[in-house]
Amino acid sequence: MANQELCGKGPHAEGTPGDSSRYIGPIVLLGPPGAGKGTQAKRIVARFKIPQISTGDLLRDNVARHTPLGMQAKAVMERGDLVSDDLVEEMVAERLKQDDAQRGFILDGFPRTVEQAIWLDGFLKHGFFDNRKQQNVKATAPIVIRVDVDYNRLKLRLTGRRSCPTCGRIYNVHSQPASVDEVCDVDGSKLVIRDDDREEVIQERLATYERLTRPVADYYDRQRRLYVINGDRQPDQVTEEIFQEILRHSAAAEGR
Ligand code: AMP
Repeated sequence: MANQELCGKGPHAEGTPGDSSRYIGPIVLLGPPGAGKGTQAKRIVARFKIPQISTGDLLRDNVARHTPLGMQAKAVMERGDLVSDDLVEEMVAERLKQDDAQRGFILDGFPRTVEQAIWLDGFLKHGFFDNRKQQNVKATAPIVIRVDVDYNRLKLRLTGRRSCPTCGRIYNVHSQPASVDEVCDVDGSKLVIRDDDREEVIQERLATYERLTRPVADYYDRQRRLYVINGDRQPDQVTEEIFQEILRHSAAAEGR
């Protein structure tokens, strides 16, 4: 499965030829660390050919290039705090103007606050689709999908993660162990735990998610736009359900 996915030929990569030209619209993927959002986002990209836009990646890129935004964001990110809403919103607006986002996009790490969610609604309504070629699109609101995983299972997934410092291969002591305990199958290196997968940091990451991202989900839920998916299942089943929801939403947006 892992190799198939690397080649973009996983069971979900194919879809129908129309999937890579139809209107998909904005997708917001919410969920705690360890819920499998990254895996699911890659499958959505492969099937529908829309970009994944990660605000964390964009910010890290700005920091690396020493842009004015990067210089303002650096210290805040190092403290683990959130970068101010206006800076992040401006950055997202710039990114969404690029051509590859016309048919749709997956937002990853955004919105992180209710203020950002309100901004996104306004931007999509007035500043994005209205000025573009999507005149036939009936709805511009994002499809919001939250992948839920049981708290104890999340902790198990995150604390069990090990990686090889030499080749980068990822293992999990509970679900995908190395053949010899804590030793890489490929090159024999001793496996390591990522700094932010240490138990005390995991507690903090999960607590931050509860504090900051729950209200964003509640915001969408109040508008009956939140779609909750049970992530305590095989990744393929989760993917299937996400795809169905995206296709349903896409058909409604096109007025079909
Ligand atoms: P991530 O890779 O998504 O965990 O983001 C890394 C860091 O970038 C976060 O800890 C924040 O400091 C910052 N960041 C990413 N996305 C946002 C956002 N939507 N709003 C504010 N800060 C963000």
